[in-house]
Amino acid sequence: MLEARGLVKRFPSRHVTALDGVSFRLEKGKTLGIVGESGSGKSTLAKIALGLLRPDAGEVFFEGEPVFALGGGALKRFRRRVQAVFQEPFLSLNPRMKVGEILKEPFEIHGLAGGDREGIARLLRAVELDPGFASRYPRELSGGECQRVAISRALSLDPAVIVCDEAVSALDALVQVQILNLLLKLQEERQVSYLFISHALKVVRHMSDDVLVLKDGLTCESGPREAVFASPKHPYTRTLLRAAGF
Ligand code: ADP
Ligand code: MG
Repeated sequence: MLEARGLVKRFPSRHVTALDGVSFRLEKGKTLGIVGESGSGKSTLAKIALGLLRPDAGEVFFEGEPVFALGGGALKRFRRRVQAVFQEPFLSLNPRMKVGEILKEPFEIHGLAGGDREGIARLLRAVELDPGFASRYPRELSGGECQRVAISRALSLDPAVIVCDEAVSALDALVQVQILNLLLKLQEERQVSYLFISHALKVVRHMSDDVLVLKDGLTCESGPREAVFASPKHPYTRTLLRAAGF
């Protein structure tokens, strides 16, 4: 679904190479976990994968098409098919809009049917919220409920890929598990692919089919989850695993 080849991103003002030749492949219905310490380049990778930030070198391909060459209708389709869920559930929702309006907006932006009352109720039920949530404001929701709304919005236009950047990192442990399991259930139902980014190894292990370990913008290790967790090849991966209590 989504492939990156040789991504390089420098921030010259800060003398930082945030990404230094990172490549990955994300298959349909699968999860690629990206794990690394703070500052390793994860969010930079997320922004590039979403087409929001241009790399200095390398390219992202969506369904085989180079993303940074897309324009017009093809770019609009990419924006519809590749969605994001970010860390701060409350900050990612417009505080002046009711949940129902928040969920209706993508349909309006893209000129698509489905944003009616019944469509919104279906979207809320998909993330295990009562349709009555449509009339609430974000400030009237818990962190977990906010994140369910953000996931619902990301799902609304039938995405192929959802980029989750620290999507549960701001939530309590118990709520984290609920949201992770919801994401897994939705993936099973809809065959959506996740680029699942987190600093937390346990979370990445729970979610991923394949794992890529980032360190200072470099791919330190990548492969099937079991291979990375059971027999890490790189000393840095072993250090990370030990630090996380594996
Ligand atoms: P992570 O998400 O893994 O914590 P980031 O991708 O946010 O890492 O950051 C990687 C590196 O790039 C860090 O050193 C960060 O300070 C730097 N960086 C990220 N975005 C910018 C920016 N817009 N301008 C300058 N430096 C940035
Ligand atoms: Mg980040």
